[in-house]
Amino acid sequence: MSFNTLGLSTELLRAVADQGYGTPTPVQRQAIPVILKGKDVLAGAQTGTGKTAGFALPLLQILNKRPQARGRRAVRALIVTPTRELAAQIEESVTSYGKYLPLKSAVIYGGVKINPQIDKLRRGVDILVATPGRLLDHVQQKTLTLSDVEILVLDEADRMLDMGFIHDIKRILALLPRRRQNLLFSATFSGEIKRLADGLLNSPTLIEV
Ligand code: AMP
Repeated sequence: MSFNTLGLSTELLRAVADQGYGTPTPVQRQAIPVILKGKDVLAGAQTGTGKTAGFALPLLQILNKRPQARGRRAVRALIVTPTRELAAQIEESVTSYGKYLPLKSAVIYGGVKINPQIDKLRRGVDILVATPGRLLDHVQQKTLTLSDVEILVLDEADRMLDMGFIHDIKRILALLPRRRQNLLFSATFSGEIKRLADGLLNSPTLIEV
């Protein structure tokens, strides 16, 4: 089984080959075709399973194929993750996978100066990777609007809840347009995660690896 049968464009296949990936991992095999169809996904997958490419590759393809509304330059895909290390890693992966596509990504997290992040956002970002607190700081300062988000990824949702981010996440969800695609990744499924998923996802496809 190779990446060629999953429905990805040649630009993405070339970037995947550059990474040295030969065969897709189980989560990639299951998630990529479903996400490309525009469906919501609830995925149980730990770090190390290749889940980042599992959501990043189809997300890049969808944004590249679907033109942005005329005259708009706001964030179209939002990836929320609990820690700055994860955020930085994900953005690095998105940049590598999207290297042959004309899409721009950025990462924002707390504990560092906000001004360079503001400059980057102002120059236009299609895909934003963020930790919850700093994301809301930017919204509050009006340096970021979430009204054009087409795809939301909640990565490591269980860890975000463990870290006490549920209220931040609810505030973020309230800022997003109603019509959008939602992808929720979590290593474990507590009652709290199930409630979050129930409120967030529309007829999701379940993926367990
Ligand atoms: P992740 O679970 O997304 O953090 O990915 C874990 C590691 O697996 C990362 O170093 C990826 O570069 C790598 N990886 C992801 N997909 C593949 C693949 N299909 N083949 C080989 N390595 C991969």
